[in-house]
Amino acid sequence: MKKKQFKAESKKLLDMMINAIYTNKEIFLRELISNASDAIDKLYYRSLTAKNMKINKDDLQIRIAMDKEKRTITIIDNGIGMTEEELETNLGTIAKSGSELFKENNEKKKDIDIIGQFGVGFYSAFMISNQVVVKSKSIDSKNAYCWISSGAEGYSIEECEKKENGTEIILSLKENTDEINYDEFLEEYTIERLIKKYSDYIHYPIKMTITKETKKEDSEETTIEKEYKTLNSMIPIWKKTKEKVKEEEYNDFYTDKFYDYEKPIRIFRNVVEGRVSYTSLLFIPSHAPYDYYTKEYEKGLQLYSKGVMIMEKCSELLPDYFSFVKGLIDSEDISLNISRETTQENYQIEQIAKTLETKIKKELETMLQEDRKNYETFFESFGSQLKYGIYSSYGMKKEMLSDLLLYISSKDKKYITLKEYVANMSTDQDIIYYACGETIEKIDLLPQVESVKEKGFEILYLTDYMDEFVLKTMQEYDGKKFMNVADEKMNLDTEEEKEALKKANEKNQELFQKMKEYLKEEVNTIQYTHRLKNHPVCLTSKGEVSLEMEKVLNAMPNNQNVKAEITMEINENHEICKKLEELYQKKDFEALEKYTKILFAQARLIEGLSIENPTEISNLVCELLSK
Ligand code: ADP
Repeated sequence: MKKKQFKAESKKLLDMMINAIYTNKEIFLRELISNASDAIDKLYYRSLTAKNMKINKDDLQIRIAMDKEKRTITIIDNGIGMTEEELETNLGTIAKSGSELFKENNEKKKDIDIIGQFGVGFYSAFMISNQVVVKSKSIDSKNAYCWISSGAEGYSIEECEKKENGTEIILSLKENTDEINYDEFLEEYTIERLIKKYSDYIHYPIKMTITKETKKEDSEETTIEKEYKTLNSMIPIWKKTKEKVKEEEYNDFYTDKFYDYEKPIRIFRNVVEGRVSYTSLLFIPSHAPYDYYTKEYEKGLQLYSKGVMIMEKCSELLPDYFSFVKGLIDSEDISLNISRETTQENYQIEQIAKTLETKIKKELETMLQEDRKNYETFFESFGSQLKYGIYSSYGMKKEMLSDLLLYISSKDKKYITLKEYVANMSTDQDIIYYACGETIEKIDLLPQVESVKEKGFEILYLTDYMDEFVLKTMQEYDGKKFMNVADEKMNLDTEEEKEALKKANEKNQELFQKMKEYLKEEVNTIQYTHRLKNHPVCLTSKGEVSLEMEKVLNAMPNNQNVKAEITMEINENHEICKKLEELYQKKDFEALEKYTKILFAQARLIEGLSIENPTEISNLVCELLSK
């Protein structure tokens, strides 16, 4: 028997495999099962095209047996098998597709994760074995041949006994080490778990041989019985006829595979035919996973190629704003060799991701239209993620996402979409009004809100800290600009009213100047306003930064001490104006200062801002009360 050398690239790869510190050694089983399944596919295909060949489809199967004493795992298929030459070329060199890539990359990148990169197939057997024996009988050959290798030194091929066509692979496990207990792979439950995890949907039965020893009663004799247990379910739930799958089955599948204790709020399945064809089965969870809004959360979908799971979480399939979607993609067009490193530049993945994005959007829209209550529940869990998608893309994603947003409206304190808001607008309204605050109740009490409502305009109530940033990024919706009711530019007066107000403001310039001195840097402008109905005073902001944004920005860890440009506005129709003007006339500046400070404190409190000098204010109020 002559020892043969592996080809140079194969040897390098094999060395890597043998010495792999790669943690994911268990993938060897997936690779070998997938080869076995391919070999059966080839035989089946041949039987369909060849003339004098009959096979019984029900006999096609893959078997696995473990021998704890000999420490071997045997994987047997009754597929097409390999001739002597095929054993030589197929197992002596790395798979064709991989080898070109491997040669190219080998020099350039030394430390890349080769195993992940090329999905090394058959050689992965050496991650767990110190010897691999492949007995094979091709349907094109009378004889069977046996390929044996203990790794890098080479391999030998000799004739052997094997009656049935197909391939039998016997893996002799490596010795256990402190880090890795190879014996684990001899346990039935480990193998069962791995088959369920990676190969559940292989469409031929994968049967595990279970040897049972039973003692006969009243005697020392034992009988050994063999049983076969089919480990895989074979038909993927997403390949079953839609009508045949009950919702419950999907729910079970979801909770089982995606580690959720609650059933999903939405399930959708699509078959896409095109440049890249695939089936998708997607779920929207009914609540955010506990780590959803943390760095630890990993988005992604399971990736299957012809029923074989090749990746647990393929993150490239989902954009961040849809990172809550769970589920899987099964595509015949995806190569088994794909890996984490190569998904990024993979054409097929890119294509799938593109169509998926649109599909998810459509599904959410349908849910919004047809299942509003559930959509609102969904939005409460994941709405922030959609908003963040607009913000973080600098508005580029607003087409995709803006119609999925919900806001509480001032009308009946229910969620509405921007589209619904615009549809409700009267002909004389060309702006979308919004107001910010911690809660709906607090916003409702804002003085600026009152007058806008009074005029019959609907207001969106923004309670999420990022809401206003998102609207600013969007700039407009359906050609309508957004405006904060607390913006200084906000003005619903008629021309005459505007004129009258302008006059009153001009007349009292000196008074305002004096009051501003008492408040120092705190306000930029003081003026009369018509925006308040009953309230005496409010604060508005000029320019890009609103008071609400100032609060958010300054709460951030590396805050830049951002300041909104604040205007204190006093209700021109309120009694207090007369009082202020009177004090100024009488030159009672002491009292004017006190009034100013109290008014300002009131305005801050109404805005939900704190006041820096509560005792001073409290004393001032008491002093006035006791007069
Ligand atoms: P790949 O499957 O990506 O081509 P592998 O290294 O896993 O690469 O396998 C190399 C080749 O060996 C396969 O393409 C196939 O032709 C052959 N082969 C592997 N396992 C079997 C098997 N169980 N039966 C028949 N042929 C096999």
